Amino acid sequence: MSIQSINPATGEILESFKEASGQELDRILGNAHAEFLQWREVPFARRTQRMREAAQILRTRKVEYARTMALEMGKPVAQGEAEVDKCAWVCEYYADHAEAFLAEQPRETDASRSYVRFDPLGPVLAVMPWNFPFWQVFRFAAPALMAGNAGVLKHASNVPRCALAIEEIFREAGFPRGLFATALVGSSAVAALIADPRIVAVTLTGSDSAGSKIAEQAGRVLKKTVLELGGSDPFIVLADADLAAAARTAADARLVNSGQSCIAAKRFIVVEAVADQFLERFLAELRSRRMGDPLARETQVGPQARGDLRDSLHKQVEESVKRGAKLLLGGEIPAGKGAFYPPTLLAAVDKGMPAFDEETFGPVAAVIRAKDEADAVRLANDSAFGLGASLWTRDRARAERMAKQIEAGAVFVNALVKSDPRLPFGGIKRSGYGRELSEYGIREFVNIKSVWIA
Ligand code: NAP
Repeated sequence: MSIQSINPATGEILESFKEASGQELDRILGNAHAEFLQWREVPFARRTQRMREAAQILRTRKVEYARTMALEMGKPVAQGEAEVDKCAWVCEYYADHAEAFLAEQPRETDASRSYVRFDPLGPVLAVMPWNFPFWQVFRFAAPALMAGNAGVLKHASNVPRCALAIEEIFREAGFPRGLFATALVGSSAVAALIADPRIVAVTLTGSDSAGSKIAEQAGRVLKKTVLELGGSDPFIVLADADLAAAARTAADARLVNSGQSCIAAKRFIVVEAVADQFLERFLAELRSRRMGDPLARETQVGPQARGDLRDSLHKQVEESVKRGAKLLLGGEIPAGKGAFYPPTLLAAVDKGMPAFDEETFGPVAAVIRAKDEADAVRLANDSAFGLGASLWTRDRARAERMAKQIEAGAVFVNALVKSDPRLPFGGIKRSGYGRELSEYGIREFVNIKSVWIA
């Protein structure tokens, strides 16, 4: 079977790759395991040097990598460059902090000396999505390698060029060859990789359906998993919100990465008192965004990453309209080439419609009316997912009270939800479990070991 790089803006096949054979996978796993045994002994100072070098390579070549992403999954180049900068930041962040995060922690007990150590585990399998094809991988790899682990990447099948470029970055940065390796395989090869004794743990960023399958496979062989899955994030607008800022940020939050972000705002829950005013402003903002060629610097919304994903999104819109949602903008597949889908606004959305119940992974905003603050929290929490939430109010005390009530891994007040190396990132409910980034992320794939000396 082959893995193909297809330009979603044109439908053109850019390159075909042969899927890795069983023999090649065996070599990749063997090397990762062998390199891990040495790498775990390498002092932090040397790991730090290598990670800083990786950051440097990313910064130097960001234009090239942004172009690779644009061609392979349609990300507008300006957003791609920002993504590459963020990858450099996470490398630098863990280069600076990994040693402190993993330092021994003395504990007062009745031993003469007792402490907690954080030892690496071995090669971790990373099953990754195409939507942030660099960032998702680096936010796993930077802490994993700094902790002394090895990494085997099974990237999404539509981004093989990104997958190979990332492997090359670590090699050029001077990490041992094979410590971080890309396995070009489809999803059917994942179960065998998880079962292989050389793989010690698995991290998946992807859909909730892939998450439950991988967790089941890992559960069978008792291997730890971290799951970063989908979301249907609420964006709550209360009556005292700055409506101009809220509407502008709402459009940014929905259209980031052409709508294909796990933490893109998806359900816009607006209290009745300001619903009409907000809707009018939001509509104007969405209308003003430019969709087009991802290689053009002024483009704000590119194509969807694959034609089949665009078609499923359209079905969700059609089904929501059939069940009573009001289509105020977009909602039609444009004529011509490419997997484009326009910014789309659905009003009068309610439970029982795909735009409320499911994740919409594209530029489709669903506006839902709430009676008051309590109703807004109820609607926000009435979801299978719990990844992020954005809340708009000028009342700080009210915001902090609501932040406690909202069922999500992150609540951002008067701001767009974003990931940041300094903050833990992850979800609850069907958005997954475990955390990436910060000190919490680096401690997911280590042996938290107690040492007791009588
Ligand atoms: P996906 O279809 O679940 O694929 C993600 C990865 O899992 C790909 O490498 C895919 O391989 C693999 N995969 C899919 N089904 C599998 C199975 N049954 N067994 C083993 N591996 C399997 O998701 P996607 O379409 O690439 O990405 C979009 C999803 O990711 C959205 O739901 C989004 O919300 C979520 N996401 C979450 C976060 C987060 O941090 N929480 C961040 C970004 C994205 P193939 O490509 O070979 O099928």
